[in-house]
Amino acid sequence: MVDKPMIGMVILLNAIAAGVLYQRFHDHPQVQLLESRVLEVYHKLLPPKTPDRCGALKWPSYVLISDRVVFPDGVRPGAVFVEGSKIVAVSENVTVDNPHVMNFKNAVISPGVIDVHIHLNEPGRLDWEGITNGTRAAATGGVTTVIDMPLNSDPVTTDRTQLEAKKKLARAKAFTNVGFWAGLVPGNAANHTRLEELVAGGALGFKSFMCNSGINDFPNVESADIAAALPFLKRRGVPFFVHAEVVTQVESDPSADPTRYTTYMATRPPKFEQDAIRLLVQLLDADTSPAAPGFSVHIAHLADADSLEIIRGAQSRGHPLTVETCAHYLTFSSEDIPDKQTQYKCAPPIRDATNKQMLIKALASGAINLVSSDHSPAPASLKEVESGNFLRAWGGISGVQYLLPATWTALREAGVDLLGLARLLSEAPARLAGCSSRKGRVAPGYDADLVVWEPEERANTSVALNMHTHKLSPYTDAPLYGKVLVTVVGGELTSLFGRINKQPCGQVVLGGDA
Ligand SMILES: [Zn+2]
Repeated sequence: MVDKPMIGMVILLNAIAAGVLYQRFHDHPQVQLLESRVLEVYHKLLPPKTPDRCGALKWPSYVLISDRVVFPDGVRPGAVFVEGSKIVAVSENVTVDNPHVMNFKNAVISPGVIDVHIHLNEPGRLDWEGITNGTRAAATGGVTTVIDMPLNSDPVTTDRTQLEAKKKLARAKAFTNVGFWAGLVPGNAANHTRLEELVAGGALGFKSFMCNSGINDFPNVESADIAAALPFLKRRGVPFFVHAEVVTQVESDPSADPTRYTTYMATRPPKFEQDAIRLLVQLLDADTSPAAPGFSVHIAHLADADSLEIIRGAQSRGHPLTVETCAHYLTFSSEDIPDKQTQYKCAPPIRDATNKQMLIKALASGAINLVSSDHSPAPASLKEVESGNFLRAWGGISGVQYLLPATWTALREAGVDLLGLARLLSEAPARLAGCSSRKGRVAPGYDADLVVWEPEERANTSVALNMHTHKLSPYTDAPLYGKVLVTVVGGELTSLFGRINKQPCGQVVLGGDA
């Protein structure tokens, strides 16, 4: 039986709460504590299931206004009209006739950040990270879509059953949108039927390692495996994401102190990256099968800036190579990494300050396509926190929450503006993931994935606001610019001043015809 007076009361309370929230937003977008309290009260008032919306705002349609909206062709004052999960219209006229308007004044409305490289580690390694905490952290940092790697979950994502299991988990738990890369390993590289099953199931493309991945169930590919898979990847028009390092014997000093970062760095020289990229180019040279749009060999986490010359050479001969670097390569340099601080360990390693400046320049010039976080945490014991032994520590940096501020802080000094940033963090990643017709832009018809942020304000990098499962991160207390106020995922208000909506509202992002 439906209790009519009860419904009336609920509607009234909703209206009051919405009104209060609206008023607060409108007048003082920065009053963090007050906003949180209002939202808390608002949540308590709302009975589950009654409203249509999953996010903290229950209005079916609303308008976001700001003096600085990052449109695809420039930054201007504007209004963004959201209905359901979509942006239905945009306008440069900010006088809007709609009862539900949030005016963010000088704060920026950008397309939500798309992080194409993250390890959620679920199922199987919830003690490393998980969909809940990983995507809560992402949303807190203005990331609206993450693409999950086929490892270090257990099982890894190398067949359709495993992909379906991940989709199911994400639908139940994700606070951001989540897509999936499938694994390309020696066991499936030549089996185009199995690869096809993964694409048909919605995998956005494939990931391989050219060196030991550290995960026994995810062995690295050899040249023959790549050669066997290339015709399929090209015909299917999906990206081939590669951890490009070929590990060979290096001179090393057995007496070198393993708690010093330079000791670890010497074990993975730039030559490993350069050899791997050269080998990939040779394989592309050798394969003459036709390539559909969407195919590229995508170099994951490029650390060595000198490798760009090889990439440029191949691109000039028509090869579809794309390349990403990570926020940590733009933020830190090897000279500054203290002894024993294994939270800085990743592969390829963070290199020196000159290299860092070259990477930043390459992003500014367009020679590098995009930036990801390669968020890959592990428990403190695996990070060898106590011993500080860089050689034994698990490689992987925790940082999806800081992708936006870290990238912005590095790039703004090189003259990259808000539009340039949106291209590197939203538009190009959407293109790589094959969803650029609906994500990565503030434009009519696009998904309402948005971040409202203050580029001139300091980001909160305190441990207290770190939402990752493990708080160990090189970004802790880093002086980064870019304070995220609000994150909207598919029209749902998901993060508000560091507070996360109670319900997960993320959607699964599927490839082309799935
Ligand atoms: Zn990775």
